[in-house]
Amino acid sequence: MRCGFCRASCPVFEEGRAEYGSARGKLSIIYALERGELEPGEGVYQRIFECLVCGRCGSACPAGVNTIDVFVEARERLIRHRLPWRKRLAFRIVESERALSLAGKIASLPLPTSSSYAERAVRAAQRKGEVALFAGCLARHVQSSLLDSSVHVLQRLGYDVRVVDDAGCCGAPLYFSGARDRAKTLVERNLRALSELEDTLIVTPCPTCKLTLTLYHRIAGETQGKEASRIAGRALEICEFLGARGFGESSLRLERKVTYHDSCHMSHALNLSHTARALVTAIPGVELVEMDEPSACCGFGGLFAIDNPQLSRSITERKVEDILRTGADVVVTPCPGCKLHLGRSMRARGIEVWHPVELLGEALKKR
Ligand code: SF4
Ligand code: SF4
Repeated sequence: MRCGFCRASCPVFEEGRAEYGSARGKLSIIYALERGELEPGEGVYQRIFECLVCGRCGSACPAGVNTIDVFVEARERLIRHRLPWRKRLAFRIVESERALSLAGKIASLPLPTSSSYAERAVRAAQRKGEVALFAGCLARHVQSSLLDSSVHVLQRLGYDVRVVDDAGCCGAPLYFSGARDRAKTLVERNLRALSELEDTLIVTPCPTCKLTLTLYHRIAGETQGKEASRIAGRALEICEFLGARGFGESSLRLERKVTYHDSCHMSHALNLSHTARALVTAIPGVELVEMDEPSACCGFGGLFAIDNPQLSRSITERKVEDILRTGADVVVTPCPGCKLHLGRSMRARGIEVWHPVELLGEALKKR
């Protein structure tokens, strides 16, 4: 259709207002590549990777174009010709739990606590059943407080928590970069770990992990396809899980002035923002001050910042200014990636960035 509706919601187009920044521009480039009118050189690589795979364009498209699928497929072809060393290194880190753990330590953040939960279930006082916690690589290796809070909150609410310690990165950074074969190795490892859980619900504090788990049937080999589909049906983002089951909100109290930053995958890919918002607003004493554009991207986009550091910074600056105008002392976001990325900018300004589960964890501590 080439209507250009996708341009209005694209954070990359917003920055430079160049046609190639938008989905429409990228689709034209990919079409020209398909017809052999363009070579898969550096310029094309740059344009196709100047994208956060946030999914806004797909949500806005009246023709229902699945932009992300098209971009992932184009990326798969492009990285066969060109894979810059920084990207190659990032891929290697994502593929190795040991390297991820080391990267977490280098990031000067608290050491992972996952080993303390490894291979054991954490018992709840009043049992409501067992859930499996698929933490994802950021919560496992970089944000131990998020892993701790997730376990603590679920346990306090009556669930036995089994941290799936044999599972690692969900594979999203590789899959969305077009490295489907490499993602497949991680996916198959995770499927082996998850298949041991039988019918236990799988809860994750990361919307990108939930999204990727629902795509496992497309990434895994044929032999695991059926198992992947079964697992997708049991995977729940943690706010989605808590929202559906309740968390004793009437007995809670927490005096904090917060603002809410939406995550692209939580809102555009999963359509689950309402669950995180409901959790935040249900805690008595929490004052939510909306920023002007809560759903504007923070500029993280997984490995996007590696390809586009300047562009990422510009998008982040816009977000930071919006947050500062609210006067909130906590930013709440359901995405560990956004939390990590925004945390770097907000910490220096004395503003904390929390996952909704960390906010709930604080409220539960005071009960
Ligand atoms: S991708 Fe969709 S919104 Fe964008 S130009 Fe094409 S039809 Fe229009
Ligand atoms: S996925 Fe996001 S960044 Fe990429 S073209 Fe679409 S709206 Fe723009």
